Amino acid sequence: MAEIIDGKAISTQIKDELKTKVSELKASGKSIGLAVILVGNDPASAVYVRNKKKACEYIGIESLSYELPEETTEDELLKLIDELNNKNNVNGILVQLPLPKHINEERVLDAISPLKDVDGFHPVNVGALSIGRKGFVSCTPAGVIELLKRSGIEIEGKECVVIGRSNIVGKPMAQLLLRENGTVTIAHSRTKNLKEVCRRADILVVAIGKPKFIDSEYIKEGAVVIDVGIHRQEDNKLCGDVDYDDVFPHVSYITPVPGGVGPMTIAMLMNNCVKSISLQ
Ligand code: NAD
Repeated sequence: MAEIIDGKAISTQIKDELKTKVSELKASGKSIGLAVILVGNDPASAVYVRNKKKACEYIGIESLSYELPEETTEDELLKLIDELNNKNNVNGILVQLPLPKHINEERVLDAISPLKDVDGFHPVNVGALSIGRKGFVSCTPAGVIELLKRSGIEIEGKECVVIGRSNIVGKPMAQLLLRENGTVTIAHSRTKNLKEVCRRADILVVAIGKPKFIDSEYIKEGAVVIDVGIHRQEDNKLCGDVDYDDVFPHVSYITPVPGGVGPMTIAMLMNNCVKSISLQ
């Protein structure tokens, strides 16, 4: 019988641990501040930002909110980031993506001090991950590792297949599994014989961005399946990149959507904020 990995419960556990750490830090005279920058009126981004602020409040992190109009120029945004880089009460800086089209996302992310880059997107932090140095790690893949560890799933020596090679999920996911001594394969849109490659996996992490793409034909009997995808269906319900009902009878562990990887991303963002104190 497959076990469902409860991302909601695990993320709450992590947030409660962080809450304790933050109150200890406060008792020793330290506080943590996260600057959250939102440019424009994208409704989905507004919801993400609100959830991040709520999580900060729960844990005891001060969130400083910068809600800027759609017509903000790249120079204005870069100037704000420069100010925040130099502010002592700001430990983490988060720029909600996507940015309006007239702003160069890469230039903006590169401007954030690597020591305050709690999203883990700065090239310095990406490089640090790949050579095993200290730094911030992208929140969603870091959350997947926590889900595996806290569910008692061993990674060492396991065949791990990651489908997807994006900079924020697939690539850091593969690096993290490698760091945990997994034997890692990255599959992507040009991979030949994808089903065959996936059927080798003891641990299959799916981050494709295509609803219910992975069915039981991609699964080795007893595999652990982690579904990073998230999509709203026509009936308004959420689903992942994995065809959950079809795959379920064949797996040993699986993450549901919603309630699997999703809640972990914010928990790991909060973890990065707390970590910023020791990195700075
Ligand atoms: P992306 O579009 O940047 O990357 C998708 C990757 O999938 C690409 O590398 C591509 O090579 C690969 N791919 C596409 N079609 C494929 C195919 N037919 N066969 C094999 N590989 C294929 O997406 P992303 O940003 O990495 O996100 C992936 C999914 O995860 C999306 O559904 C996204 O919404 C979700 N996501 C969820 C969270 C969360 O917090 N739960 C966070 C980030 C992303």
